[in-house]
Amino acid sequence: MTFDTSACSRPHTFFHRQGVELWCENVPLSRIAQEVERTTYIYSRAQIETNFMAYQSALADVPHQVCYAMKANSTVGILQILAKLGAGVDTVSGGEIARALRAGFTPHKIVYSGVGKTRKEIAYALKQGIGCFNVESEPELERINEIAQSLGLRAPISIRCNPDVDPKTHPYISTGLKNNKFGIPIAHAETIYLRAANMPGIEIKGIDAHIGSQIIDTQPYLDSVTRLIDTMDRLKARGLVLSHIDIGGGLGIQYRPEDVPPTPQTLLQPIKALLKARGFGDIKLLVEPGRSIVGNAGVLMTQVQYIKYGDTRNFCIVEGGMNDLIRPALYSAWMDIVPVVERHDIEPLVMDVVGPVCESSDFLGRARELAVKANDWLAVLDAGAYGASMACHYNSRVLPMEILVDGDQVIPLRDPETYEHLIQGERFLDL
Ligand SMILES: *Cc1c(COP(=O)(O)O)cnc(C)c1O
Repeated sequence: MTFDTSACSRPHTFFHRQGVELWCENVPLSRIAQEVERTTYIYSRAQIETNFMAYQSALADVPHQVCYAMKANSTVGILQILAKLGAGVDTVSGGEIARALRAGFTPHKIVYSGVGKTRKEIAYALKQGIGCFNVESEPELERINEIAQSLGLRAPISIRCNPDVDPKTHPYISTGLKNNKFGIPIAHAETIYLRAANMPGIEIKGIDAHIGSQIIDTQPYLDSVTRLIDTMDRLKARGLVLSHIDIGGGLGIQYRPEDVPPTPQTLLQPIKALLKARGFGDIKLLVEPGRSIVGNAGVLMTQVQYIKYGDTRNFCIVEGGMNDLIRPALYSAWMDIVPVVERHDIEPLVMDVVGPVCESSDFLGRARELAVKANDWLAVLDAGAYGASMACHYNSRVLPMEILVDGDQVIPLRDPETYEHLIQGERFLDL
């Protein structure tokens, strides 16, 4: 595949501008807009593959497994692309495990994280033969041991340690500080490993940490890995040798020009060097990237309904809302918004880009300078992660469409929802 990415505003992605048109790979988005006539996520297959392969090549010289954190985007078609490339997957619920299996991931490449695993979910995961439970508390470890024994199985586990490092990201997406609900305080990990070693239903595999999301600094990772290595050293002295270390996900992407995250190569090079220097050069290295695999591989395309002029602010009211893309409302996330077809016949105006949902937090962007008219289409960029997977039916709105672009092919990843879908599964009273 060849793409002319020279004339684009964002040369690092497969979304690029040619003349006035925004393209995804070899397809102008305006062509898709004509067909779908509704708010739609558009993904670039080449971008997803490129992002995944960046991890694969950064880890090519060590035993490794890249486990895509599927909560970032769990659409079946997207999962199939990654499963086909040999990816593993990081899951956080029984439903995600079921979805991953349906999409073709091999059970032993599934890791299962999450603080609230129920008995039912644990039994299900065990029966499917998943690769590793990332255990987040001592009661969870006991529960897994008990269920595994009752099924006559041994549960592969790693202890998710909370290394108490500050990833310097949004508080809602920090997970490795001691006041977060995630993981086991690293100071207790050793004791818990020694207990686990005596549990007949448990097979100790590794150690893991996941410190947060949208991290654009390498240092927090190095701090976290150093603490994991310290623990592995102590365990080794007690005769317990682990077969993998899972450093979690969380690598950020470039939402704004000034966010410059490390590449997988720049992030992982010093981590591999650190492991080697500390005598763990041969241990299997697991990573759990989500956002950095799919984030810049998707945009949300939505149509302008009205331009509304106010006394203090102007509003660009679009069809897509917080139910389609909740990141701005939930995390005050800034996402770039650009016209699908640039126009030069009107002056740009500063406007809040808002959705139709009956909540004041329903905005996609504030104070954006845009030259658009009603019926034009906008694209919210870098919307491939935590977009479609967080979409919901609030306000009885149908889910956004999802489309994959592969070269010059346009492939729907779901059926367009109808109003009938909105009441599917509900029971009517006999009144
Ligand atoms: C969410 C999550 C990830 C992925 O985070 P990203 O920021 O999307 O890379 C990885 N591991 C665990 C345990 C998670 O909860």
